[in-house]
Amino acid sequence: MDLIFATHNTNKVKEVDLLLPNDIRLISLEELGFHEEIPETEATLEANAQLKADYISDRFGLPCFSDDTGLIIDALNGAPGVHTARYAGEEKDPEKNMEKVLKELRNISSREARFKTVIALNFNNQKLLFDGIVEGTIATKKIGDEGFGYDPIFRPEGYDQTFAELPLQVKNQISHRGKAFQKLINYLTKRKRF
Ligand code: IMP
Repeated sequence: MDLIFATHNTNKVKEVDLLLPNDIRLISLEELGFHEEIPETEATLEANAQLKADYISDRFGLPCFSDDTGLIIDALNGAPGVHTARYAGEEKDPEKNMEKVLKELRNISSREARFKTVIALNFNNQKLLFDGIVEGTIATKKIGDEGFGYDPIFRPEGYDQTFAELPLQVKNQISHRGKAFQKLINYLTKRKRF
């Protein structure tokens, strides 16, 4: 079965492809020659993930899934949330995004936060959602060189290090995205027929 992963991130496609059963062929947007950015206009991660999966599935007539991730900070009433990628501006600059969060949390001691990934799967108009959450806290400064995005300021629960200090293998086992993809993979592996 052919299944589209609606992302422009080819690394994500390769990683997930390796974990899927052999009878599922994962197709990237690049392979389809689709280079547009699908506007994420909805108010929730769930609705944005669904919007992308439905748009691509309708356009290419194939089953499709997409993922959407947000950082949710309690003291900021859930921000940046759906605006995580562009929190400090359209250029999606991780340094500026982290500076903005650190500034807003200056002098605030309750720093609980979580990353949440939502995956929306659409095949033959049957729609399913899978999610993954990692709880943690926002550090008072950036620490570590690994990873990407907000990793240097996010310390997962149960660890003294930030995501940017942990080896990728460890991060993948406990992360929001790791958990959500594991649910999707379990589902696709168990489901015999499409
Ligand atoms: P996306 O939905 O996967 O594109 O993620 C949206 C934004 O969330 C990214 O641009 C990053 O800023 C942030 N983000 C997503 N996953 C992670 C992560 O694992 N670590 C740090 N930041 C992340």
